[in-house]
Amino acid sequence: MTAEELLAFDRRHIWHPYSSINSTLPLYAVESAEGVRIRLVDGRELIDGMASWWSVIHGYNHPVLTEKLQEQAGLLSHVMFGGLTHEPAVELARLLVEITPDPLDLVFYADSGSVAVEVAMKMAIQYCFAAGKPDKKRFLTVRSGYHGDVFHCMAVCDPVGGMHQIFKGVLPEYFFADRPECAFHDDWDESDISSFKKLITENHGRLCALILEPIAQGAGGMRFYHPEYLRQVRALCDQYDVLLIADEIATGFGRSGKLFACEHAGISPDLLCLGKALTGGCMTLAAVLATRSVGEMISGGEPGVFMHGPTFMANPLACSVAHASVQLLLDSNWKQRISSIESGLRQGLAPCPEFENVAGVRVLGAIGVVEMKDVVVMEEIQPAFVEKGVWVRPFGRLIYVMPPYCMAQEDLSLLTTAICEVVAEQLSQ
Ligand SMILES: *Cc1c(COP(=O)(O)O)cnc(C)c1O
Repeated sequence: MTAEELLAFDRRHIWHPYSSINSTLPLYAVESAEGVRIRLVDGRELIDGMASWWSVIHGYNHPVLTEKLQEQAGLLSHVMFGGLTHEPAVELARLLVEITPDPLDLVFYADSGSVAVEVAMKMAIQYCFAAGKPDKKRFLTVRSGYHGDVFHCMAVCDPVGGMHQIFKGVLPEYFFADRPECAFHDDWDESDISSFKKLITENHGRLCALILEPIAQGAGGMRFYHPEYLRQVRALCDQYDVLLIADEIATGFGRSGKLFACEHAGISPDLLCLGKALTGGCMTLAAVLATRSVGEMISGGEPGVFMHGPTFMANPLACSVAHASVQLLLDSNWKQRISSIESGLRQGLAPCPEFENVAGVRVLGAIGVVEMKDVVVMEEIQPAFVEKGVWVRPFGRLIYVMPPYCMAQEDLSLLTTAICEVVAEQLSQ
């Protein structure tokens, strides 16, 4: 197949994320990828600023991970997890229990982030049901969040940016506290927590859990909020007997500068969702970690089991490459790498706030965000980035990057320079 034929067939027959079948947006065919570079079929190479949506933290085609996949494929690619177990699932669980905040002790494997969020929400409902509090089955969250694309995930995504309008009447209606305004590096402002405090105080009798992204909100707005907000949220959840679900699908595994973003606030959730970087971007896999007390409550009450079991639960290929990826991360100098990416992003994006079309710039860990005043025009901005040899995929008013941790300073500087140039070019258009 020629590149033209490939793209033509794709356009005619394949859906892409959030796409229209009539899309005229640019589409590029990838041949391979190595390190921080994506190679297109036409031979062009792009420096990847997206880590394939947070996941490819070690870069593409990492020899350790590729070898692990090949080795595991020769042993066992898949086997059902009902009544059977295997070393990759056990070794990965052992590692996850060890490195996640302390009381988290139980692992449920799922196949994608959205399913993990759904599973955590089901656990919270079953927890309250088993505790003899069946009226506590609704959820509280904060605005500007993103938790995935299946129904209950959508129901806790930001109601404006999300899909509440279209799916009204189908989506359950939950409680939304104002988004945290006090930024990560700002001085703490006590009034920031008041909306949350009011909602939980008034509604705790109906609430089984709060779900939020700790510290760094991802696709709902790319905002970084104050650790004190999260500390107070934890305390209020304890006070009112509401479980805390931390969705660290985007932030987990070092991205925010801590292994898990909850550590910025020194708190631990009752349920923790992991995904994205879990396998280093090699396979789809997610996990929910739960405290033993949550697990015991669910298992001790009616119906005595947790009601979920995916066909591909704990896929051995995914578990073994996840174990290798997490171990690779732990054995690396990831903290130093993240902090040098953080300073590289800060320095490289420093010219952006001067541009009239830029609303703000923020950096936390290996995440850099340029918020524009207006929604970007994808037809123009996407080819502009590709022509400069970088892969950056903006959405709405946000141009953002979260590069693989192995990105060298020269490549990072090419990436941030391209962003500054594209932002400047937008101004003159
Ligand atoms: C990506 C993401 C999800 C959904 O994960 P999928 O694997 O895309 O289903 C959920 N929560 C957060 C915070 C995410 O970033």
